[in-house]
Amino acid sequence: MCGEVCGCVGGSEPATVSPLSCGGRCGGVVWGVTTSRCFSSNADLHKLTLMREFDLLKNIFAHNQSLGDAVVIPPGDDMAELTWSGRNLLVAVDQIVDGRHINLSTTPLELVGRKAIARSVSDIAAMAAKPVASLAAVVLPKNFQTQQAQTLSKAMIESAREFECPLIGGDLAFHNDPAHPLICSVTVLAEPMGKGEAQSITRSGAKTGDAVYITGQLGGAIQIDGSGKHLTFSPRVKEAQLLLSKLGSHLHAMIDISDGLGRDVSHIAELSNVQIHLDAAAIPCTNGLPWQNALSDGEDYELCFTTDRDPPSTLAGLPVTEVGRVEERANADDPYVLVHDAGQTHIGDESGWQHES
Ligand SMILES: [Mg+2]
Repeated sequence: MCGEVCGCVGGSEPATVSPLSCGGRCGGVVWGVTTSRCFSSNADLHKLTLMREFDLLKNIFAHNQSLGDAVVIPPGDDMAELTWSGRNLLVAVDQIVDGRHINLSTTPLELVGRKAIARSVSDIAAMAAKPVASLAAVVLPKNFQTQQAQTLSKAMIESAREFECPLIGGDLAFHNDPAHPLICSVTVLAEPMGKGEAQSITRSGAKTGDAVYITGQLGGAIQIDGSGKHLTFSPRVKEAQLLLSKLGSHLHAMIDISDGLGRDVSHIAELSNVQIHLDAAAIPCTNGLPWQNALSDGEDYELCFTTDRDPPSTLAGLPVTEVGRVEERANADDPYVLVHDAGQTHIGDESGWQHES
């Protein structure tokens, strides 16, 4: 733990704690939700950061009603969708920031470029859509070397090709401040794959009675040294398309797990106005990590979806596991996510899991 920025000085550090649990710059990432495993000062910082993000986003979403008929899916989902002249197009932008999402001092540029592309393409998977193209806007620190910039751009071009989302343009700028962090923003375009009204799978389609599933395993995607799955994952685009082809309109809602199962499944619950119950014992966790890691670590880039049909047990060899169910949310102040573990119930909403006393 870094200690210098976030004040990681107290408490007992568990063996499995990842940089995600640190609010400082040691591992970069804060947007995994807070847990009681984290030091109290970090938890406060994490919650403050998340609240600021949520407040800002809610201000932006408040303008959704004024966007016009061409916007089929407004801001708030993994991608926005536009329609014109009978054709639909999905679009999303995401970014990685040194010191926040990656640590440039310990991460090869090849993996930085790859993650910048993969992170955005994962949003295409979340909509069960087909990649079309990508564009990148990169801000380089003043002292970034030409060779470094070439390595980064080559990695982004090759990764975009690997994910069948070719990089067709963008912008590059050197910042005047040598201390300015590297920032890579990647916009992706995609084509809906579904039929009928629900051409794209959104976060808002979960129905009471659905079961909740995830692909793969969750937790521990970022190792203490900054390495790990978050740099090498493959967006689940083909798996999502396969799922859509199997379930069709019975694939009700889906999201990619970037912020932790707790926070991300709460997005489905909130936009669908339902309550999601997770069975802690059923959640497949990486290397035997506790379920709390699956809820809070983030950066897994697996899929979470709801359906009223039995999905395949594997998708292109990737395990699919039932982890919960969708129920009615009776009252406006009820939690969106509850986690059931060994006879106890925990609140698992976007602000992080906490024991319900
Ligand atoms: Mg997403």
